[in-house]
Amino acid sequence: MDNLVTYILIFILGSAIGSFLNVVIYRVPLGKSIISPPSSCPKCGTKIKPWHNIPIIGWLILGGKCAECKEPISVRYPLIELLTGFLAVAIFYKLKIFDIFFIIDFAVFATLLALSVIDFDYKAVPDSLNLLALTLAFFSSADVLENIKNALLMIGILSLVRYYVSYILKREALGEGDIIVAGTMGALLGVKLSLIALFIASVIAIFPSLYIRFKNSELELPFVPFLAFATFIVWYFKDFFLNLWSSIYG
Ligand SMILES: [Zn+2]
Repeated sequence: MDNLVTYILIFILGSAIGSFLNVVIYRVPLGKSIISPPSSCPKCGTKIKPWHNIPIIGWLILGGKCAECKEPISVRYPLIELLTGFLAVAIFYKLKIFDIFFIIDFAVFATLLALSVIDFDYKAVPDSLNLLALTLAFFSSADVLENIKNALLMIGILSLVRYYVSYILKREALGEGDIIVAGTMGALLGVKLSLIALFIASVIAIFPSLYIRFKNSELELPFVPFLAFATFIVWYFKDFFLNLWSSIYG
């Protein structure tokens, strides 16, 4: 019972952070302050009432529409709150303890989630958030120097991959944003697991990129969502992937 209450509290905490992430995702790329003014309807400017700001529930009470002008509010808002809530629960379930490392790991993955959504919207990510995730990731375990070293290695590896691929494709491949995310990956996972995560991210990204090519669409595929997702999967199932690595390479 105690356990269930803890998980519910963690979920509520996570979804509240998700609500804040929505503000970050909307305002940071526009260069607006994330602290003030309080949220308002982008169409009619009506201030969002406190009870409408309750994660997930607020959106349901409003029926997905502004209370004043009935402008639809994207279902993405409650979805991100829900996802961030589950993210917190999943990380707590893995770590089993609410300590500084839980807070840092959650903060890093929540920031990666925000970066993923922003990359999806803009095909670019703000350096402020990207560097925040990287800096936090340096402190994601006690061996900070080792984490920084792994981050630098991954940044180097990905920069090199970028030179090769750009040379072969005769166009810019991978953004600078992706390279910083690879650094975050390195700090969290170490080099071996990061290479696995890079591989997984690339494999998953092949399908939508083939789809785009076949449709002859001008759409540009954001890579940060794939990097972030693969980082989380590999981080979560670390032991499995380390075993896999040793069974292949000894
Ligand atoms: Zn409105």
